[in-house]
Amino acid sequence: SPQDSADIGVTGMAVMGSNLARNLAHHGYKVAIHNRSASKTEAVIDEHGSEGEFFPSESTEDFVKSLKKPRVAIIMVKAGKPTDAVIEELAQYMEPGDIIVDGGNSLFTDTRRREAAMKDRNLNFVGMGVSGGEEGALNGPSLMPGGSKDAWERLSPMLRDIAAKAEEDGEPCTTHVGADGAGHFVKMVHNGIEYADMQVISEAYDMMARALGLDAHAIGDVFETWNEGDLQSFLIEITATVLHHDDVRTGRPFVDIIKDEAAQKGTGAWTVQTALDLGVPVTGIAEATFARSVSGDVDQRAAAQKVLEARTADEKIDDPQQFIDDLQKALYASKLVAYAQGFEEISKGAETYDWDINLGDMAKIWRAGCIIRAKFLDRITEAYDRDPGLKLLLADPYFAEAINDCVPAWRRVVAFAAANGFPVPVFASSLSYYDAIRSERLPAALVQAQRDYFGAHTYKRVDDEGSYHVEWTKDR
Ligand code: NAP
Repeated sequence: SPQDSADIGVTGMAVMGSNLARNLAHHGYKVAIHNRSASKTEAVIDEHGSEGEFFPSESTEDFVKSLKKPRVAIIMVKAGKPTDAVIEELAQYMEPGDIIVDGGNSLFTDTRRREAAMKDRNLNFVGMGVSGGEEGALNGPSLMPGGSKDAWERLSPMLRDIAAKAEEDGEPCTTHVGADGAGHFVKMVHNGIEYADMQVISEAYDMMARALGLDAHAIGDVFETWNEGDLQSFLIEITATVLHHDDVRTGRPFVDIIKDEAAQKGTGAWTVQTALDLGVPVTGIAEATFARSVSGDVDQRAAAQKVLEARTADEKIDDPQQFIDDLQKALYASKLVAYAQGFEEISKGAETYDWDINLGDMAKIWRAGCIIRAKFLDRITEAYDRDPGLKLLLADPYFAEAINDCVPAWRRVVAFAAANGFPVPVFASSLSYYDAIRSERLPAALVQAQRDYFGAHTYKRVDDEGSYHVEWTKDR
């Protein structure tokens, strides 16, 4: 490859990296490409070489040298140790001011560590969340870069070009999220919200299938209708498509031939673990993550099926349409809770790690390209525009009215599910969260009394300042 001539480089030519490189080339950039094993690089040139100007290199040194200064190289390899190895190799050949971008699904604490290490060597390190899967990488992802403002200045024209554009106003779905690990943190929470969003859709599906006895196609029709209202989103849309799809081999509804064991790659768990560390209740995301674990434990499920009696009320549903309308509201309300909790986690993360994150902008850059793209994200941006210091998304007047409006239907669904033996972990826990957060007084007073009893952890009085402790064995 010619030296100092490529606008940007991508290393890691698996599906994500090659698609991102092609996206850049489609936008007129000269793209250096590299992969540990050269065969993947060759395959990109063979299959897509005519789509734009690619500069392939076999060695990391040639790859780095083919880049214009200050250099920009994006890493798209497996998260964890492979990413550390590739960073180290690139850094060897980079010069002060050059920029290494990690577009993989890295844990934000790794990104913070890497950014600090690169800064010591006068290199810029940008951890960038990339959402939208392989299709997004090729045709427009949502991009969540962290790192320094200087790095953002250099990257932004390219990132804005290749990012998805919001349908509403054509704005590219990328912005400078915040310093060091902020981008990967926001991408992590995005994935956590995605878990909750998928689970609430599945709970509504399950109630229609098992409580109402609708077949997959009929349920697909319901989701199609829902996609025209407040729930309008990519996930609802693909759910309708999936439910209308029949298995080629058997002719049966596709969803019915799939094993009911959901897998996970870990970003949901990271979101929950981080939330526990930060003390943020992300009940919706946690229950959605646990629901996947429950589904996957086949042996436990088999053992439970044999002996756990359901003793259900076996109620008949008199008005199926009313039940479906109730489910729509239970889904919407639970989804609002999950998003509110996710934004709370971002807000707490920003406070803890000193990131200047504009919460409204996060909703904006998720409007296209990513899996949770949805009509109602605009409402989130508006809420934070109205009040940048909003304590809780649900406390915004628009969202408060939206969720309050759902409450009677939401209670009917959760009560019916409990009485008749259907698991709705996110619907039910979200309703409990709603009832807790709006309660004037919580049983935490009793917990605090217990803590004072056995651990002398002290308590505060409702009628005075200060901390108190009862000498339980004496004063009683
Ligand atoms: P992947 O399967 O996660 O990783 C394969 C790539 O990593 C190959 O190019 C491989 O090179 C390289 N690699 C592995 N170990 C290496 C090492 N020790 N040194 C150098 N290179 C090494 O690929 P992917 O699915 O395209 O994903 C890339 C990144 O994007 C990941 O971090 C992933 O989590 C993230 N991501 C994926 C998606 C998605 O939808 N797939 C969406 C968003 C983000 P060889 O060919 O030489 O083995």
